[in-house]
Amino acid sequence: MRDTLVLNASFEPLSTVTLNRAVVLVLQDKAVVEQSHPVLRMRGAAVDIPAPRVIRLCRYVRVPFRRQAPWSRRGVLVRDRHRCAYCGRRATTVDHVLPRAQGGQDTWLNTVAACAEDNHRKANRTPEEAGMALLREPFEPTPADAMLLALGQEDMAALPEWLARDAA
Ligand SMILES: [Zn+2]
Repeated sequence: MRDTLVLNASFEPLSTVTLNRAVVLVLQDKAVVEQSHPVLRMRGAAVDIPAPRVIRLCRYVRVPFRRQAPWSRRGVLVRDRHRCAYCGRRATTVDHVLPRAQGGQDTWLNTVAACAEDNHRKANRTPEEAGMALLREPFEPTPADAMLLALGQEDMAALPEWLARDAA
């Protein structure tokens, strides 16, 4: 996996992101290239640039690394890459694993991205009660997730098509 190192505007290393994500940040003028790959290039219909090895954000972002990232619905969707935890299809809603009606809280470990259909079907039941298995357990967001959230990079589906195709 070829990942790109991301530096904050202050040159402090923040995280790594996929090559595709790094190119998108540069194309969106959210980051500048500090160091490029000597050989590898990213090519598309309108783009042909050396693959970035290190990029630096144009704007300083505060990213909570050591303390817990604050929970948000948007954050859950970013963490889960907008994939439903029950069927893997595109998710637009957030499901409480232990339903709020049963005392479930708004926490990273109690919420997952879910498609509207599965969220509706599960309703106020636990996965066991609903007979719906979780494809993966909920987890605390990674530093990369927290950084992308801080940058407003919330949706992988917003990647240009050619970049999505070239996914490393
Ligand atoms: Zn689903």
